[in-house]
Amino acid sequence: MDAPPANEKRISRFLEQSHERIFDNNKKWVEEMKIDDPEFFDKLASGQSPEYLYIGCSDSRIPANQIMGLGPGDVFIHRNIANLVPNTDLSAMSVINYAVRHLHVKHIIVCGHYGCGGIAAAMTPADLGILNPWLRNIRDVYRLHEAELDEITDEKEKNNRLVELNVFEQARNVIKLAAIQQSYAENHYPIVHGWVFDLHDGLLKDLKVDFEKELAGIQKIYNLTK
Ligand SMILES: [Zn+2]
Repeated sequence: MDAPPANEKRISRFLEQSHERIFDNNKKWVEEMKIDDPEFFDKLASGQSPEYLYIGCSDSRIPANQIMGLGPGDVFIHRNIANLVPNTDLSAMSVINYAVRHLHVKHIIVCGHYGCGGIAAAMTPADLGILNPWLRNIRDVYRLHEAELDEITDEKEKNNRLVELNVFEQARNVIKLAAIQQSYAENHYPIVHGWVFDLHDGLLKDLKVDFEKELAGIQKIYNLTK
């Protein structure tokens, strides 16, 4: 066989290095953690009891634990494009049910972010293939809040507001679930929150979802406590 062309060789070496460096990083991280706390990994291996379930966007710029100032073991995490909670998504449903019924998390956070590519894609009138059914959830949020959104003329502002409204609606989707309603009736937790992360300054904004009020409103139709 002929030797691969020079640029192919370069690409292959680049890929090899970008993979290998993770293992170098990993070893350094292990050493650093052990310096801080020699028993760190014994504790980590002994089990998890996180207080928080974080449901966020897959966007690579949002390191969930770091933005909350929390370490390994503190947060149960579920991420997907545009932090959606569709009730037919077996993965999201399994994560939430496990977090509530087995880990007994105290807070569930739906966290969106301004400048979300998923939200922008949903605002684009185009056939995006396999993404269509996923983005449809966001387009449905738009339809629910059409009057408010249509008042906003600035596109960026409109996208940002849809980011917030999507967080509200996904938080409502969480509250509609039996696991949340039953656990809250019994234990007074978990509480569901809606946040937005701002990439420009790194700050989290609490949208102040009124959990009790939302729960009462939702239970008029979706009461699953019985
Ligand atoms: Zn996003």
